[in-house]
Amino acid sequence: MTSLSLSDSRQRATVLDVTSYDVHLDLTGVEHFGSRSTIRFAARETGAETFVEIADALSVRATLNGVELPAGAWADGRITLTDLAEHNELVVDATLPYVTNGDGMHRFVDPADGETYVSAYCGMDIASRVFACFDQPDLKATVTLTVDADPRWTVLANGQCTLSGEGHWSFATTPPISPYLFVVCAGPWHSVTFEHRGLPFGWHARQSLATELERDADELRRITTSCFDHLTATFDEPYAFDSYDQVMVPGLNWGAMEMPGCITFDDGLLFRGTPSAMQAQHRAMVIAHEMAHMWFGDLVTMKWWEDSWLSESFADYMGYQVAGAAAGFTDGWIACAVNSKPSGYRADERRSTHPVAEDAEAMVDVDTAFGNFDMITYAKGNAVLRQLVTWLGEDTFVAGANAYLTRHGFGNAELADFLEALDSVSDRDVRAWAQVWLRQSGFDTILVSRDGGVPVLTCEGGRPHRLTVTGYADSGEVVGSRLVDLADEPVPLPEFAGLAVVANSGDETFARVRPDPQSWAFVVDRLSHLEDPLTRAVLWHTAVDMTRTGDLRVPDLFALVAAHLAAEPHPMVFEGALVLVREQVLARLVAPAQLEEAAGVVSAVATLVLADGWDGPRAVAAAQALAATTTDVALLEEWLSSGQTAPGHPLDPDLRWSAVRRLVELGADPSVIDRTLEQDPSASGEIGALRARAAVPTPEAKAAAWALVYEGEPSNREFRAVNDGFWTSGQHDLVDAYLDRYVEAGPEVARRRGQAFSKGVGHSFPVLPLPLPAMERLRDGVTGALADSTAGVPTGGVPTAAGVPTVLHREWSDRLDDLTLALHVRSRTVDS
Ligand SMILES: [Zn+2]
Repeated sequence: MTSLSLSDSRQRATVLDVTSYDVHLDLTGVEHFGSRSTIRFAARETGAETFVEIADALSVRATLNGVELPAGAWADGRITLTDLAEHNELVVDATLPYVTNGDGMHRFVDPADGETYVSAYCGMDIASRVFACFDQPDLKATVTLTVDADPRWTVLANGQCTLSGEGHWSFATTPPISPYLFVVCAGPWHSVTFEHRGLPFGWHARQSLATELERDADELRRITTSCFDHLTATFDEPYAFDSYDQVMVPGLNWGAMEMPGCITFDDGLLFRGTPSAMQAQHRAMVIAHEMAHMWFGDLVTMKWWEDSWLSESFADYMGYQVAGAAAGFTDGWIACAVNSKPSGYRADERRSTHPVAEDAEAMVDVDTAFGNFDMITYAKGNAVLRQLVTWLGEDTFVAGANAYLTRHGFGNAELADFLEALDSVSDRDVRAWAQVWLRQSGFDTILVSRDGGVPVLTCEGGRPHRLTVTGYADSGEVVGSRLVDLADEPVPLPEFAGLAVVANSGDETFARVRPDPQSWAFVVDRLSHLEDPLTRAVLWHTAVDMTRTGDLRVPDLFALVAAHLAAEPHPMVFEGALVLVREQVLARLVAPAQLEEAAGVVSAVATLVLADGWDGPRAVAAAQALAATTTDVALLEEWLSSGQTAPGHPLDPDLRWSAVRRLVELGADPSVIDRTLEQDPSASGEIGALRARAAVPTPEAKAAAWALVYEGEPSNREFRAVNDGFWTSGQHDLVDAYLDRYVEAGPEVARRRGQAFSKGVGHSFPVLPLPLPAMERLRDGVTGALADSTAGVPTGGVPTAAGVPTVLHREWSDRLDDLTLALHVRSRTVDS
């Protein structure tokens, strides 16, 4: 299938005006499904020519204005339409395959009970794998859907179900929506439904997760209705759709998808055990994020993908803000500071960085744009909007957002439209602000220096910042805080003379901060004692960032962890810092010879926290870290044999699988995997077993895992799990030969299996402590592969095409930058 190009999409938008889709799906088949799409559209020029997408079909029949089109009109996922009338009706009948990779009509058989679930996962240019459509965001049309399926099933879709019976469902016509927002979820769902403000709401999950859904139903309903009340009160435009279903689905490639009226969530969000504080906060944030999309993204949609930030940056910002203001998750910005925002800085340092509001011309096709659903668009965009709110005031920001939504409702918009709306409500120079914050990539560095004893802030980079600076006495007491406007001119802070200071202590701005030696010595001494958890979150990020850039030695970072992390009282700061240290330092910057000692620091922190009891708010995160890093075989065996971690504390299913994985890593008989799977034959049990088998430290287990993912046809979930287990820390000798095989095999899998798998191959990049020569070999291998295909080649193109497909090309260039940075730090460490 050819990735839709910007020029084709612009051309088509000038020719067509699409009115409506009538879609009929026949989901009664097991191997494939039937799709009939009746499209009514106008052509601005009679006699014009265009095309409609229908991808990966097994068979296609098309009729335009009553005349059957020749078979030759259909090629490479497109049907050529010629000699258009002023008003046209196109009927496309297609037979299409189900998929297991999350891109299209995903079919999942639940191992727990054998039940089947079939869901259309669209997004970007995937809708054309489900029904024939003009698959670009600025050709909106109404959708009227009918479905045939197993009469025992429930079928959910964008519109409200108006009629069901005897295996047939009809849905109300939607308002105009972009094709990528189409959704259908069919299966024997367990449902919890309710009415709120006269609108039908529902939460749905697989039958085998009914207990978990019922357990969480009250909380999910509370979060949903409070966020809904908040957003409908904030926005002038009313909620635009006729129902609000939220479906926990299996095998989604994204955390969630904002389909109008029917949101899909990865069903991992329906926790099987006790969630950590961060996990609970994250779920509330995602619920609010998707709901904000009903306005930002669904009601008003970007014209082309360069403006995906108009959806994602806003939803990311609103997700944290609304989950806090409406649903009581008031520590969201703390979680953001230590869990999400650091990924925005990392993305902004890679060669692939781009302005938050990208140039349209740079997004030459959908595959290229796919790479921009990255942490620039989410985490940095969110942070930049937060700085905008700090700079403008929240009321002005909301007024601007409302002007934008009201002017462009049910239509499409771009950066200029947003700025015009903002300009209409503010006296400030929002265009100049946007030029440096939205249209330029990279971030500034704020340096703290001393003039005599007086702290001086200097900004390198040229953006205006508004941020809080806090001054501390040696005891750790706050002496004062003030909001500082910092731009080209240095700002002295005489009121904090002689004191330690923390810049951006309220995390309002997006900039790297480098403290002066006096202030950093204070942080090393007092970090866990500082009063404000948000400031501590910012400082843990700063410490890890300084380690990545070589400004802080790796042993000094672990000394900070040993001194302060177990004493960190806030559960989200604790968990976020723990994850940052494990993922960014332990897995990347530590030499194999130092791994055991460094992992020992982490497991000692976890053990200390758990010594306070298994009831505390930090216990779940500590237990997860302990299970991954401990060398205490007897402890893990005791957990498994007793089924509890401590008296009265049952072992959670996910923790059980972490313990099993760690046990086999430490040399236990792999039969423990089969025994555990017998006790937990669920979908996540299967995934846990796959991950653990791939982590077994024998050449045979590695060969079997490799064959499964690179020679078989795994689903997206299976692919991720096996790869996660495969590249296990401490197994560098076992996987050494596979470093080269990964570089050889990756492009072929990416070409064969499409966008989502390409991303999956990128995410399976080896990240574990490696000897320096192995790191250099991996770097050179990937560099060579990228050099052979500088521009990338289309995903799913001609099977024999050489080179690295576009989506994987982008992923690999990112991983290569991370590897190069790690090499830089590692090569300066004497004993590697
Ligand atoms: Zn989103």
